[in-house]
Amino acid sequence: LTEACLSEIEKSNALNAFVHETPELAMDMARAADANKQGGDLNGIPLGIKDLFCTKGVLSQAASGILAGFKPEYESTVTTQLFAGGAVMLGKLNMDEFAMGSSNETSVYGDAVNPWKRGNDDAQLTPGGSSGGSASAVAADLCLAATGTDTGGSIRQPAAFAGITGIKPTYGRVSRWGIVAFASSLDQAGPMTKDVRDAAIMLRAMSGHDPKDSTSADLAVPDFEAALTGDIRGKVIGIPKEYRMDGMPEEIAKLWEDGTAMLKDAGAEIRDITLPHTKYALPAYYVIAPAEASSNLARYDGVRFGHRAKLDAGDGITEMYEKTRAEGFGSEVKRRVMIGTYVLSAGFYDAYYNRARKVRALIKRDFESVFADGIDAILTPATPSAAFGLGEMADADPVQMYLNDVFTVTVNLAGLPGIAVPAGLDKDGLPLGLQLIGRPWEEGDLLNTAYTLE
Ligand code: GLN
Repeated sequence: LTEACLSEIEKSNALNAFVHETPELAMDMARAADANKQGGDLNGIPLGIKDLFCTKGVLSQAASGILAGFKPEYESTVTTQLFAGGAVMLGKLNMDEFAMGSSNETSVYGDAVNPWKRGNDDAQLTPGGSSGGSASAVAADLCLAATGTDTGGSIRQPAAFAGITGIKPTYGRVSRWGIVAFASSLDQAGPMTKDVRDAAIMLRAMSGHDPKDSTSADLAVPDFEAALTGDIRGKVIGIPKEYRMDGMPEEIAKLWEDGTAMLKDAGAEIRDITLPHTKYALPAYYVIAPAEASSNLARYDGVRFGHRAKLDAGDGITEMYEKTRAEGFGSEVKRRVMIGTYVLSAGFYDAYYNRARKVRALIKRDFESVFADGIDAILTPATPSAAFGLGEMADADPVQMYLNDVFTVTVNLAGLPGIAVPAGLDKDGLPLGLQLIGRPWEEGDLLNTAYTLE
């Protein structure tokens, strides 16, 4: 399997999915897996690892120039667990810089490319972001599965754009230790896979309590695969009216209706629900995420990691910081640092950051109240459109790009599990995804409901 994947990767340079390959390490790991007759569920399974994960001795740059040459002295908890179970690392995958973006166009390595094409049109499409390399690699069979991370949709949106499955688990299910932090109260890692069963298997391998992450939950990890019975009779599925956005393309509306009908046919009860604070989710997210990012990114100062600018005679430490950060960060990251610093500044803290936190609490309460009313899962589209062209949004107002996250950010703000599954093709033959949102810690149930949509 590892040899087959390595040879596919060789042939697929044009996708720019893998940004750093580790073929020798992969073959060593594969041989060790062959020799291990008691390996875990993932023994010998070749994976791609998003560049946001620290991998010991292997370049880990979060697709940023500021981490140029950074080879961590430590292994993230997620990759430690995956490799302990016998999984093989093929290399590191492309992504948006520091996971900020929805198209993989902010990467220092250049764009990742979606293997899907729009009809006969040869134009290159985005695989989504920020886990664009992961989505592209899984969709193009360069690896059997990949790790992703999701702060506002970065597993689910690329999964939808590339026709694969991706789950963001409940906040606290998977350790964040050793994953480069973007917005710590929103970040969660999860699997990006070919189907729901693979997601269930890989999620179990990634999950579990970790004393090194104080937000990781001390809960037993269920056998998610065993939950895949295909029986959802009696489950109650909520359809939130606030997600029916003005101007929703007809094919997205139809996809949503078809998904609803499939769940109903499988024996679920369908109920209309309301999540009244949904419209405030994007603005709240784009205050909270940059605020946390500006604080997390303060550590990139030219002293501890990666890049340091060349200094002129007479430059002091302030010039060193300024020049290093000016050279090392890309423009989207700088935009987030500026927004974040602004909303946290003394005069504006209450008006922006504190208000966004209050809105976040209301959004969380919306979900708690529908779950208390007996809703088991919520069905929505995963994205407002199919994959768009690379460069298509480049000159647009950055807020246009942020609108991609309209269906996904609520889930991170509320800390809930959410899964995107492929659900059909648009008129040009591009994949579209549906999203299911579940109750906290009930990923097994959520995966089972998603399984009935396959
Ligand atoms: N697109 C969102 C952002 O740019 C989400 C990214 C993510 O989930 N990492 O912040």
